[in-house]
Amino acid sequence: MSATSDHSRLETSHDEGVSVFDRARKLFLRYAEPLELETRHPGQGLPERLVIPDKSIIFRLSLQMDDGSIRFFQAYRVQFNDERGPYKGGVRFHPDVTLDEVTALAFWMYIKTAVVDVPFGGAKGGITVDYKSLSRAERERLTKKFAVVLCREVGQEVDIPAPDVNTGEQEMAWMLDAWRNTTGVYQRGAVTGKPLDLGGSLGRREATGKGGVIVLLEAAREAGIDPSGATAAVQGWGNAGQYAALELAKHGVRIITVSDSQAAIRSRDGLHVPALIDHKQQTGSVAHFPGSEPVDHGTVLTSKCDFLIPAALEDSIDETVAPHVQARFISEVANGPTTPRASRMLFDQGVTVIPDVLANAGGVLVSYFEWVQNRQEYYWSQEDVADRMTTKMKSAYEQVARVATENAVSLRQAAYQIAIDRVARAALERGGQ
Ligand code: NAD
Repeated sequence: MSATSDHSRLETSHDEGVSVFDRARKLFLRYAEPLELETRHPGQGLPERLVIPDKSIIFRLSLQMDDGSIRFFQAYRVQFNDERGPYKGGVRFHPDVTLDEVTALAFWMYIKTAVVDVPFGGAKGGITVDYKSLSRAERERLTKKFAVVLCREVGQEVDIPAPDVNTGEQEMAWMLDAWRNTTGVYQRGAVTGKPLDLGGSLGRREATGKGGVIVLLEAAREAGIDPSGATAAVQGWGNAGQYAALELAKHGVRIITVSDSQAAIRSRDGLHVPALIDHKQQTGSVAHFPGSEPVDHGTVLTSKCDFLIPAALEDSIDETVAPHVQARFISEVANGPTTPRASRMLFDQGVTVIPDVLANAGGVLVSYFEWVQNRQEYYWSQEDVADRMTTKMKSAYEQVARVATENAVSLRQAAYQIAIDRVARAALERGGQ
């Protein structure tokens, strides 16, 4: 990563300790308190049962490079909780991937699947690798090796991977192929986020970013804000950030500043989103986009605008950034972009934050639709997918907003309370033996 920002992930002052998972766990326990799980169900081991991962798989991958040399990489799959259904979660290929990060991401996954009420648990995987520096052949070998090592741990009834940072349809296709060749079974539902040719779902590509905007606009509408004429900033110009920006632009929102890992740019008149997507595709960065001016990375998070979309990595908004945030609404399209302390500060500042476990759930929602279609081998139209996703996202938002209002708590706390209640019920029903 060559980000120069004070607020880039590597340089962030981790305000509450270095372990992302530790902070996530503490927050969960705090949010679980009002539910009085231990008092209501004495001796059942709740909520401890919900904060310990079921299984953490750590493995070494060797890769023969194109020049014949051998390199080694650390890889992970954390299957956190499957009380409500098979494990489900993305695969991240990035130099900063650690067991701690993968565990936190797996933890958030099962909370997210419960918030939007899809019948899955939560998992996450990753490889610590500078994936972008590999050749295409090296990428294919590494991805397939990752899949082969995990072939006994995954499957459509067990654990279903999907894309995350630096992985997409191509990696999902390679994993499907590896499992087909290893097990002899062509089981499309073992992975989601696949290309359409291999049983992917229409609408999956845009689902995460679009879902984050659907709930954001619901919140804005409740506050009486008309999106046409509103302004937005987007941190992260990958799958999630680009589709969020496209969806915002469709509603007349002006995207005034965006960043990727290499650069940050601004245009007061608004950036032309499709052209900026093409520019990134062609040049590999948002830098030097015609009609824009370069700005510091931190500017994107603190710009004066209506909507802020963090769509990069964890801990972008910490307690040094939070006081300078000028946006009125934040939709956490990234996982864990706001530290718990920053989250409390934003709440006190009156910024409405749609939490990640709701804001980016469109991805897992359409992954669920893909899984359903694969099991039926019957495929839905784009409209069908979009309608079902919009209905589910709006309904999840409505439930979260209602609980938040009734209990005078943040949307994050409300989302966690709904999820914890659902998962705890399933855990009790399954028993503890
Ligand atoms: P991606 O690899 O497609 O894009 C990530 C983007 O973030 C890239 O443009 C990269 O340059 C940028 N970035 C990295 N570090 C940055 C920094 N310091 N400042 C600014 N930009 C930076 O990944 P993605 O799939 O879009 O995932 C982005 C976020 O959304 C992650 O937190 C991921 O967990 C979350 N998410 C993704 C999905 C999905 O379906 N893809 C689903 C749920 C959540």
